[in-house]
Amino acid sequence: MKALVLERQHELALREIQLETEPGPGEVLIKVHTVGICGSDIHYYTHGRIGPFVVDAPMVLGHEAAGTVVAIGEGVTNLNVGDRVCMEPGIPDSNSRASRLGIYNVDPSVKFWATPPVHGVLRPIVVHPANYTFKLPRNVSFAEGAMVEPFAVGMQAAMKASIKPGDTAVVIGAGPIGIMVAIAALAGGCARAIVADLAQPKLDIAASYEGVTVVNIREQSLKNVVSQITDEWGADIVFECSGAAQVWTDIADIPRPCGTIVVVGLPVDPVRFDVAMLSTKELRVESVFRYAHQYDRALALMGSGRVDLKPLISETFSFENAVEAFERAAEGRPSDVKLQIRLDD
Ligand code: NAD
Ligand code: ZN
Repeated sequence: MKALVLERQHELALREIQLETEPGPGEVLIKVHTVGICGSDIHYYTHGRIGPFVVDAPMVLGHEAAGTVVAIGEGVTNLNVGDRVCMEPGIPDSNSRASRLGIYNVDPSVKFWATPPVHGVLRPIVVHPANYTFKLPRNVSFAEGAMVEPFAVGMQAAMKASIKPGDTAVVIGAGPIGIMVAIAALAGGCARAIVADLAQPKLDIAASYEGVTVVNIREQSLKNVVSQITDEWGADIVFECSGAAQVWTDIADIPRPCGTIVVVGLPVDPVRFDVAMLSTKELRVESVFRYAHQYDRALALMGSGRVDLKPLISETFSFENAVEAFERAAEGRPSDVKLQIRLDD
């Protein structure tokens, strides 16, 4: 089949590659409709590696996908041919200790699409375990279905924050992850989300959501805005979603005493952080690695109409123009939140 293959750093090809086409027991065959481009896909393209994961053999990119079930393997009872679905890209070993504890996202043996050496989903068809394939509600399009993967990260962050009704959240970084964290935090009970970034076009998109206040950190100090809004008390929860190392210098100024910092953004290099600052305010720190058990909840919110992710889709490219889509994504335009590739018309 023809797939988008990352041959090596900086070299993408839309070319023939042999991949499995027959669903085994417990698996389904899916005709892929839409795939979103994630920051990690871009990073593999531009850097050829993310930390210990190195692209040392050709690899198909893409892990944010939705499509239609076209065949089912033996023993599959939860899906039928014709179902519109989205897929969880990480398949853990179901017998691992992490899986048995329900924390399958941190199973060290998880196989995750487009993380070397596992091929991703920018291809016309894919075989996938039925257990990690979820039906889309009638009112959720394929394009929105392909947004469930990054939204699940936001859902996981909201869950790890243990939000209480009426909390004030601060979200640092208005990329796709930051905006979706803000949306999940609001859906989870936050009264408001103060979203900070330096790219005004992204802040404008974030501001279109009810409950979101935006801060352009080129023009205003985030600490001052939060202090003003919270009568100098501080935010209940700070979600770090920029991955920018310098944020850590004074992040502890933003939460209230005994507030929470949730680490979502992943700095490329180790970060300097004054641990003693945590102590004086007795702050709680939580972290997020992808998600576990969030797809059903994400789809329930999207199906209910309370969460609309469509405004985050900046542009859709055809599969024939997939390389162009990656070149555009690598430019990192300040107005681009999520770029998608559509394989099936
Ligand atoms: P992105 O690069 O599109 O967005 C980051 C945003 O942060 C940009 O809009 C940028 O302008 C902004 N920013 C940069 N420096 C800033 C600063 N000092 N203050 C405020 N904003 C600043 O990335 P994304 O796809 O939205 O992902 C965000 C982060 O989350 C990345 O670090 C990514 O690696 C990480 N991530 C983590 C998980 C996880 O499971 N923990 C999953 C997906 C992504
Ligand atoms: Zn991703």
